[in-house]
Amino acid sequence: MIPDETIEKVLNEIDPDELIKLTAELVRINSVWDPAAGTSEQLAAEKVAQWAHTQEFEILQEEVAPGRPNVVITWPAGSGDRKLMFEGHTDVVTPGDVSEWSYDPFGAEIVGRRMYGRGANDTKGNLAAMLVAMKALKKSGVKLAGTIVEGVLCDEEDQMLGVRDFIDRGHADAITAAVICEPQDGLICISQKGALRARYTVSGRMSHGAMPLAGLNCAPAMARLIDGLHKLELEAVTKMGHDRYLGWPSFTPTVIQAPMAGTPQLNVMPGRAQVLVDIRTIPTQSHSQIKNNLKTLANEIEKQVCSDYERYDRKLDLKRTHDLKIEVEFLTDRPCTMTDRDDPIVQAADWATRNITGKEPIYAGVPGATDGTYLWALKRIPIVTMGGGDRQVPHQVNEWIDLDQLIETAKIYAITALHYLYPRTDT
Ligand SMILES: [Zn+2]
Repeated sequence: MIPDETIEKVLNEIDPDELIKLTAELVRINSVWDPAAGTSEQLAAEKVAQWAHTQEFEILQEEVAPGRPNVVITWPAGSGDRKLMFEGHTDVVTPGDVSEWSYDPFGAEIVGRRMYGRGANDTKGNLAAMLVAMKALKKSGVKLAGTIVEGVLCDEEDQMLGVRDFIDRGHADAITAAVICEPQDGLICISQKGALRARYTVSGRMSHGAMPLAGLNCAPAMARLIDGLHKLELEAVTKMGHDRYLGWPSFTPTVIQAPMAGTPQLNVMPGRAQVLVDIRTIPTQSHSQIKNNLKTLANEIEKQVCSDYERYDRKLDLKRTHDLKIEVEFLTDRPCTMTDRDDPIVQAADWATRNITGKEPIYAGVPGATDGTYLWALKRIPIVTMGGGDRQVPHQVNEWIDLDQLIETAKIYAITALHYLYPRTDT
């Protein structure tokens, strides 16, 4: 049991004004990765490094790509094997059409108890909260056993270069648990959907639209592929059912394109076409099994379409080569993540959320991928994704964060770490 006065000591050191000020300063830095416009994560990373320097934390600034640094902040709180990571990204997505915004996307304007701006919700508010939480723990002087590492990483929104670099340099090696600071509206997310993305390329033969028999049309194969993918989804939904945290698995053809390149023209029958499919998985599905099914689908449809063409050509007494090909390549393969409810980091998050909100914590899953996906997939680090901010708001216009929820988040982060790193009697 952690004494109430210890908890109070930590919470008293959370400074709401500092949290709001730091969030605003970060939001005012345009950190969209846009080489043409000359913006990147650089200035946001520098701002964080400068702040951490003032608090006398150990700082490493590492260039992941030109203009795209990671900042790794370490605080050895006390001797112990546990090493808790907090992760927050510095990049934000584009504001899109600025004329659609009612607020300056980089103004950090406060109206009532909301701060508006790109990244206020995803995830600069939560990034500031994790920083302020670590400072509060340090200032409180409470005895802890272990180390806190804060990974302030670049490129979460695109290729996740930041977290991959962090892992490549060995920073993740001794980490025993991680809190991924993302807008989850106070929910404790212990699982994330997996992603498997593939491209089907259908190669037929191009011809004049008035002389289709001089070529080999890709369209029948495309229709069958879309239908086949739907059947695979139906099978997954029927067999695997609904995950309590993640919902249904899905097989979504997102790009259906013929011709595959060049300008489409009504009187030209394309020689090549493609279907891109975005598959999101739940923990009971096997990615290697799905890959096999996707390859089988390509082979079967190729055979069916070729034999349909043979039958048709016999009827017309036509000599044509039936060399239609369907190929499948895999573009992304990210597994599901699943942290046990009994894991010490989940227990800590549960206790902290209960303590601060006075409510029963709600568990959920993350529908997309985060930097946590790599920590779990490559290093098997148990992860919890949590933070303030409405879950629908990221990447929208007029992005906002509720300031009271943000303050609550900093408190939850601080005492999650307190619980996780509290000296245990068995050690
Ligand atoms: Zn994010």
